[in-house]
Amino acid sequence: MVEKVDTLVIGGGQAGIAMSEHLSRVGIPHLVLERHRIAERWRTERWDNLVANGPAWHDRFPGQTFDDLPPDAFPSKDRIVRYFEDYAARIAAPLRCGVEVTALRPRDGGGFVADTSAGRFEAARVVCATGPFQKPLIPAMVPETAGLMQIHSAGYRNPAQLPDGAVMVVGAGSSGAQIADELARAGRRVFLSVGPHDRPPRAYRGKDFVWWLGALGKWDARARTPGTEHVTIAVSGARGGHTVDFRDLAALGITLVGRTEGHEAGRLRFAADLQANIRAGDANYLSVLDEADAYVAAQGLDFPAEPQARVFPPDPACVTDPVLSLDLAAEGITTIIWATGYGFDYGWMKLDALDAQGRPDHREGVSSRVPGLYFLGLPWLTRRSSAFIWGAWRDAADLADRMAGDSGAVRAAE
Ligand SMILES: Cc1cc2nc3c(=O)[nH]c(=O)nc-3n(C[C@H](O)[C@H](O)[C@H](O)COP(=O)(O)OP(=O)(O)OC[C@H]3O[C@@H](n4cnc5c(N)ncnc54)[C@H](O)[C@@H]3O)c2cc1C
Repeated sequence: MVEKVDTLVIGGGQAGIAMSEHLSRVGIPHLVLERHRIAERWRTERWDNLVANGPAWHDRFPGQTFDDLPPDAFPSKDRIVRYFEDYAARIAAPLRCGVEVTALRPRDGGGFVADTSAGRFEAARVVCATGPFQKPLIPAMVPETAGLMQIHSAGYRNPAQLPDGAVMVVGAGSSGAQIADELARAGRRVFLSVGPHDRPPRAYRGKDFVWWLGALGKWDARARTPGTEHVTIAVSGARGGHTVDFRDLAALGITLVGRTEGHEAGRLRFAADLQANIRAGDANYLSVLDEADAYVAAQGLDFPAEPQARVFPPDPACVTDPVLSLDLAAEGITTIIWATGYGFDYGWMKLDALDAQGRPDHREGVSSRVPGLYFLGLPWLTRRSSAFIWGAWRDAADLADRMAGDSGAVRAAE
């Protein structure tokens, strides 16, 4: 039995649901296949206490609010799952859960064949919505024989999951900074390896950072600033939302170290870049304040001044005199949490659609190599906002319009 559909959407996270809404709007028959459950990654690949990085008024699709939350609250990960379940039901998305696409191949004469855990599908077009963050990446640095628990931030749930002892958190983007904070507050001794990062203010002059990103046109940036490809961003909605300042984490008892560079004979080695990274993070923070101030002045806005936002606490000893290597056993470190990001995992895609680095080769979500193949939800798919909740929805709108325009051409080729 082969099931035929005009457009197959692979993945039932926010991107797959947004795509379904817009395909319905433009009248394209489609089916969404999700290997597990709606918004699965929010259910099983994120820690228990995670809340959205943006407030409820912002981190949502336009057509549905978090009606039980104040607009400035940060929804829990479970609330986000419920939001997408409700949304998919409300738009009656043709979504089938528990169906994994195991191979996507070209069909003779055009279109695609998808082999799945529930049989074969044929489609004229396919939208890949399998996520911006597909496969946890752990650098091959500390061997398993080191006798430590090593997990990725995607596998971290809560402090009780870890063996007794101190914890080394590598990576100080939003995940690493929040996990280190949670562990320190749970009474753990924590070391945090801080590489190059941006750390924008959570809020300034009465407006949340995500509001400023919009006002300053930064959500719409078309490409990363060259040279910032490895700069992560540290923001937090935890405990009602707060600015991440690594000096505050040090004041909690966390020992900050520089970028993790290597492991030899039971010792972790760090770059001598901690101060420089903290300074660059501060410069990024201050640049947001400067741009916001200039915007307020230019628009003649009556936003309250916030001079205290420019006052930093003094550098802690771990920053002025940074540790360059640590004997893991001597420090009692029993766990390393690698908050080191994600890669792509397109092993199921049997198409010439990826570049030499295994990344989709596309232009604004339209495959540059395979006619009828589309991508949605990837970082910087069209703009900075593309991998975020509302940004994926906006890209889905554009992609569906584009596909509706392409329909004639595809059908003519069938
Ligand atoms: C820790 C963390 C916190 C984040 N917090 C926020 C936030 O607060 N606000 C925000 O806007 N963004 C946030 N993001 C970014 C982004 O919104 C999320 O990554 C989001 O999950 C992306 O949604 P998606 O639908 O594009 O992909 P995913 O959620 O990854 O969904 C892809 C789906 O595809 C399915 N799938 C994969 N392969 C197959 C296959 N072969 N066959 C069938 N199904 C398949 C998966 O099971 C999954 O359900 C966060 C990301 C992370 C990692």
